[in-house]
Amino acid sequence: MYDAIVIGAGAAGCTAARKLAEQGKKVLIVEKKKHIAGNCYDAEDEYGILIHVYGPHIFHTGNERVYDFLSRFTDWHEFRHEVVAQVHGQYMPVPFNLHTLKRVYGEEKGTELEQKLVNVYGMGTKVPILELMNHEDAELRMIGQYVYDNIYVYYTMKQWGKKPEEIDPAVTARVPVNISYDNGYFADKYQGVPRCGFTKMFENMIDHPGICIKLQTEAKQVLAIKEKKIYFAGEPFAGDVIFTGPLDEFFDCKYGRLPYRTLNFVFEHFEEDDFQGHSVVNYTVSEEFTRITEYKHLTGQKCEGTTISKEYPLAYTGENGQIPYYSIANAENQKLYEAYRMEVSDIPNFYLLGRLAEYQYYNIDVMVEKAIELVTGL
Ligand SMILES: Cc1cc2nc3c(=O)[nH]c(=O)nc-3n(C[C@H](O)[C@H](O)[C@H](O)COP(=O)(O)OP(=O)(O)OC[C@H]3O[C@@H](n4cnc5c(N)ncnc54)[C@H](O)[C@@H]3O)c2cc1C
Repeated sequence: MYDAIVIGAGAAGCTAARKLAEQGKKVLIVEKKKHIAGNCYDAEDEYGILIHVYGPHIFHTGNERVYDFLSRFTDWHEFRHEVVAQVHGQYMPVPFNLHTLKRVYGEEKGTELEQKLVNVYGMGTKVPILELMNHEDAELRMIGQYVYDNIYVYYTMKQWGKKPEEIDPAVTARVPVNISYDNGYFADKYQGVPRCGFTKMFENMIDHPGICIKLQTEAKQVLAIKEKKIYFAGEPFAGDVIFTGPLDEFFDCKYGRLPYRTLNFVFEHFEEDDFQGHSVVNYTVSEEFTRITEYKHLTGQKCEGTTISKEYPLAYTGENGQIPYYSIANAENQKLYEAYRMEVSDIPNFYLLGRLAEYQYYNIDVMVEKAIELVTGL
């Protein structure tokens, strides 16, 4: 009945399904949640404000093929994304740049330090914090140490659940300082959000006569692997299966659970029209949450009142309702992932795609590109 089955209706699954359908295949998408769009899912809250339910998502890419593909399904609310950090009560642009430098050291000293940075590295360059921290010049070291202490270390501790002594700048402080006056968070040519939301964009994408979708259906309800063969609804299945869910759960975590960080989003609504004047404020020296997102500044929605979310990172336990957000990249976890991958590696028509199935962080544009590439080869 179906030529291909796609597990998961996130960015990876929807893109793969659309491309397969455009190649003339009859595709079934199986999605365990009540909705499509995966982590990119957005919806109006009870106050009519469009929120990103699984955290703020900004599409950004320099990839024309991906931009053109997605633009078939949406218009864009385009903007250059900027983020500020709240440091001891003051808002400062991040990543740290020459505006931030002057905010910290004042106009006069800031100009002097700017000259030094430009002389050493050149205007428009990016320098890792670590390089500044290890520089022979005491003032450059001072800048590096300031950024590490006030922008980087506490945020990273919260994000990854580490103690200060577990954070080794030699390993982690590769984040750059931007020697420029550009407050932009991303450098990509195309930046923004779908004008009517991500969910609508993915809805349009899978609106194709060749695509059927089953929501609220867990992969294991319809799909099984026995002796390296795929079974769909109890029958051998010879078509392609593109799997975008977590592999460990599909195999009942038989080698152990793949570690992730998860996030708890606490949403609050206010009658006032503006809460923080910025879409995203990172809390880099205080608070237990990492950042506050004010959605109307992201989406461009004009409305009364405002909704924000505070983002609390914590360890993923697999508890019902928890979402695995960030895979934790290290050799031990990669080895565990490989054990699961080997379970399917020699099944020729079973493909792993996406941030969960590949146990890897991907931005949306990379995900879309990888899905297009995979399906183009089928
Ligand atoms: C907090 C956060 C913020 C981010 N912000 C950005 C950003 O600003 N810009 C950007 O480009 N990228 C961002 N990303 C990355 C972006 O979310 C991913 O690139 C994208 O979600 C990957 O899509 P995916 O389809 O691989 O995974 P997902 O979006 O997770 O989709 C997987 C889908 O599979 C379903 N599924 C899982 N298991 C099963 C199963 N067993 N059976 C059936 N269905 C199943 C899930 O319910 C889900 O719908 C962010 C990620 C996080 C965590």
